[in-house]
Amino acid sequence: MALTLEHAVVIGNEFALSFGDGGEAYLELAMLRRACPCAACQGEPDALGRVLRPRVEHGPRAFELQRFEWVGGYGLQLFWADGHSTGIYSFPYLRRLAGLAEQGQV
Ligand SMILES: [Zn+2]
Repeated sequence: MALTLEHAVVIGNEFALSFGDGGEAYLELAMLRRACPCAACQGEPDALGRVLRPRVEHGPRAFELQRFEWVGGYGLQLFWADGHSTGIYSFPYLRRLAGLAEQGQV
């Protein structure tokens, strides 16, 4: 069964999520922005499959989450205050980030 998201809300500097299976996650906004999955932030593989990670500059409003939209029942599109909004975070990706944060890996 696909992972669903029941509820999402920004509380202070965290994004609080509750998933359809009863799991909850609290993701720090700065970490969330740095993990933006879009090609501009994470890079795209070249013809040989190598991924060159771009150097991303974050301005003063980059870690402010302005709003978000549900995308096709599988993810969230996040709109940051500096105008960046190309990243679509799938529910499993958000869940994975929460797990990594708990282990101190991000
Ligand atoms: Zn991005």
